[in-house]
Parts: sequence; C-alpha cells; structure tokens
Amino acid sequence: MKLVFDAPETRTLTIEGRDARFPVNRIFCVGRNYAAHAREMGKDPDRDLPFFFMKPPQAIVDAAAPVSIAYPPETSNYHHEIELVVAIGSGGHNIAEAAALDHVFGYGVGLDMTRRDLQLQAREQGRPWEFGKAFSSSAPISSLRPAQSVAHPEQGAISLQVNGETRQESDVNMLIWSVAESIAYLSRFETLEPGDLIMTGTPAGVGPVVTGDVMEGQIDDIGSIKVTVT
Ligand code: MN
Repeated sequence: MKLVFDAPETRTLTIEGRDARFPVNRIFCVGRNYAAHAREMGKDPDRDLPFFFMKPPQAIVDAAAPVSIAYPPETSNYHHEIELVVAIGSGGHNIAEAAALDHVFGYGVGLDMTRRDLQLQAREQGRPWEFGKAFSSSAPISSLRPAQSVAHPEQGAISLQVNGETRQESDVNMLIWSVAESIAYLSRFETLEPGDLIMTGTPAGVGPVVTGDVMEGQIDDIGSIKVTVT
C-alpha cells in the first residue's frame, strides 16, 4: 500500500517481563468513578451512570522508567489524576460482566493529566472536554503487568505524592464502577478492540502541579510511576 506520507507511529507501552510491547489503540477514561472525587468536583456520585471521555494515542507517554513531561500550553491549572489503567487484550461487543475480566491483558498505573481550567470552562458551557483532557502527553502510563501474573485488582492502595507529599490516597475497592462493570457497560456502546485502554477514574485529592514538580504514584501489586514536569 502506498501512503502519501508516513503513517503516524503506533504508540506502545512496556510489558513487564516481555520483549514484545503493547500497541495502544483507543484510550477510554471513566469520569468521576470514586465518590469522594465526584463530590470534590461538585457532583452527586450516587445518581450518575458511568460516563466516558477519550484521549488520543498521542496522549501516551511510556513511563516504564522515570520520565519528564512538558507543562502544556494554554493552562494555568494543570492537575494530576492517578488512575488504575486496564489494558484490553481481546475485544468484544456486549461483553457480560461475568466474562469481562477474561478480556483484560493486564494492568498499569497511569496519570490522567488534566488542564482543569479548560475542562471546567467547557463543562460550564456544555462543550466537549477535549482541550482539558485529550492533549498530547496527557497520559503517562507505567509498564503493564500481565493479568496472568497478577490477580485482578479488586482491592489495593492507590496513591500519589507530589515532591514527596501525599496528595491522593485511596483504595481501588472504592471504585463506584468496578473494572468488570466498566468493561461490560462500555462494550454496550462501542465494540472493544485489542489495544484499547481504560483509565478507570481518580480518587479524591486532585490538584495542580507546576514546572519542577515530581509526581510519584503507586497501586499495590500493579506498579508505580514517576513523572517530572519540565
Ligand atoms: Mn480521570
């Protein structure tokens, strides 16, 4: 096949213990999936069905080792959101909740970096969130731990420190919509494909970072991430 110019490079993530890499397809993100975070964003966590937004593959930063990301343009309120990332290994439509975890390739630790000022401005105006959420390098993600080598995480501490000070601290058992429920619900609306990622939402404690800040995040049994803002 002839292309008029080179196709965009496929974004990939490191897989723990494997030479082969994980090619990233789409990135689905769950909004307000921890009750305390929904409340800090001014919303009632009890009434909302899960909702999703997306990031482009250009958002991916392989953070298997410590990395730096540039402070993005057109914001003065750049926020961290630590999240459990689910990597889909086999696709499907209308996936049953009971079978959902069979579609998981593995798990990682990710940051849903957010231009909060642009997101909230869009939210107030009833406009899409893209400029707040879907920008380049807005999703640094750790190496993926294959599901066959780790139990599906039903519980485990999730936390984020900025310059050594804890900002976010919760447990993945506090997810309003579990990994299996999120996969089942999302697959009603969109046929999932291998390579898709699901960022499962962030616990309370989101806040700003500035140039020079170092973010360190961990999820028990899944991994860790270290990202410096330059
Ligand atoms: Mn998020």
